Amino acid sequence: MNQIKFKKINNEDLWRAVLAQIQLNISQANFNTWFKDTKILSINDVEIIISVPNLFAKEWLENKYNKIILKTINETNGGRIRKISYYIDNKNVDSSKKYSNNPVNSSQLEFTEFSVDKKTNLNPRYTFANFVVGPFNELPHAAAQAVTENPGSLYNPLFIYGGVGLGKTHLMQAIGNKISQNLPNKQIKYISVEKFTSEVVSSIRKKTMEEFKLKYRDIDVLIIDDVQFLSGKEKTQEEFFHTFNVLYENNKQVIISSDRPPKSIQSLAERLKSRFEGGMITDIGRPDTETRIAILKTKAEEKGVNFPEDVYLYIATNMQNNIRELEGALNKLIAHQKLENKKINLNKAIIILKEIFRSSLNKPTPKKVIKAVSQFYDLKEKDLSNLSRRKEVVKPRQIAMYILKKELKYSYSSIGRNFGGKDHTTVIHSCNKIEKEILNDDNLKEEIELIKQSISSL
Ligand code: ADP
Ligand code: MG
Repeated sequence: MNQIKFKKINNEDLWRAVLAQIQLNISQANFNTWFKDTKILSINDVEIIISVPNLFAKEWLENKYNKIILKTINETNGGRIRKISYYIDNKNVDSSKKYSNNPVNSSQLEFTEFSVDKKTNLNPRYTFANFVVGPFNELPHAAAQAVTENPGSLYNPLFIYGGVGLGKTHLMQAIGNKISQNLPNKQIKYISVEKFTSEVVSSIRKKTMEEFKLKYRDIDVLIIDDVQFLSGKEKTQEEFFHTFNVLYENNKQVIISSDRPPKSIQSLAERLKSRFEGGMITDIGRPDTETRIAILKTKAEEKGVNFPEDVYLYIATNMQNNIRELEGALNKLIAHQKLENKKINLNKAIIILKEIFRSSLNKPTPKKVIKAVSQFYDLKEKDLSNLSRRKEVVKPRQIAMYILKKELKYSYSSIGRNFGGKDHTTVIHSCNKIEKEILNDDNLKEEIELIKQSISSL
């Protein structure tokens, strides 16, 4: 009995190491699509049987990835496997329970992204226990905790905003997971605005709007992610407004995230803005160095590895903007350490991470500034950079010029050249105007701050 158990764990480790290596060689999207929910069923000297969730995956793995799997397995365990058979096992698909009950065995965490609960859409990997709190997210964290204690009463809606990769989704899902643990009878649903939009569109097409409405009416806690994407989608906004009202009037909790505060979301109906503003609005800033190190250590611990202090410090000082990127750097080191079975020191880390840091240290360019500003205000890049005098582009263009001057220290005339050859006096006027406005307009000041943050993740 013991022996069988032992063998099974070995297979899991082997497969994890194989996947870590394959993941480095193919795109993340392909990896997620084809390698999700696969595992080793059995293995002997020459043959391996891999369980896959469906026929689709079987065919793709057989036709496209057979070679790389074979090669990677043999490289990893020094074996001479010659044949892979794929076995379709759809019982293996929902692994969420397994992982959520077993947080200690979290070297598997990098693969638990898939183990989303079908009913709530929550990913059990996002918890309060593994959410690091620092000065930059203390307030949203406290608000989130308060919501878990008394959903629907105190902070409703709870609106969390902040730049990409700073923990909005994690925090919101942690609320959902905690409530589902404490109050198992509550109906909880996590959904991104993109998914919500496609549900609206397909309900209209299939004429199943009534069912759609009913489905949302029964929810006790609705978590809706990335509401900036409601911008300009009138029909979806309308449906969301009704859903929101029904829930709100029945004291159901609504939790919302966005990359900016409600007032800065372009083309969002006023009535929705004021709904969003009616509860608690809180923002996540950028983590300081100590917190970045603490996050790295937490993630490493979760994955059952550790690195020397100077390695953490090296990553934390080179990646300042985005927690997701911190994690990416760490994962890369972990994969190397596992494969080479050798402890990583600072010198090795520098070599491994050179590529990642080079791209993340890319300085902002006029192109990026223009892109960030146009994305923020939902405009076309070319409208911003040509001579158009349309009212809605004038202000964003001035902001872009201001950022180029302030952040990149470009000269007025070279800024002018980036905007269809505008005269340098126009540029001076624009920069001065924004400089002055910021003094009295906190909203504008914050928008510029958010735009600056978003440039670093372009
Ligand atoms: P956002 O939704 O703001 O773009 P995510 O919630 O997806 O960001 O976070 C990106 C990654 O960083 C996730 O893997 C998440 O677990 C991690 N992360 C973010 N904030 C924290 C934190 N405070 N502590 C630990 N991990 C965090
Ligand atoms: Mg998110």
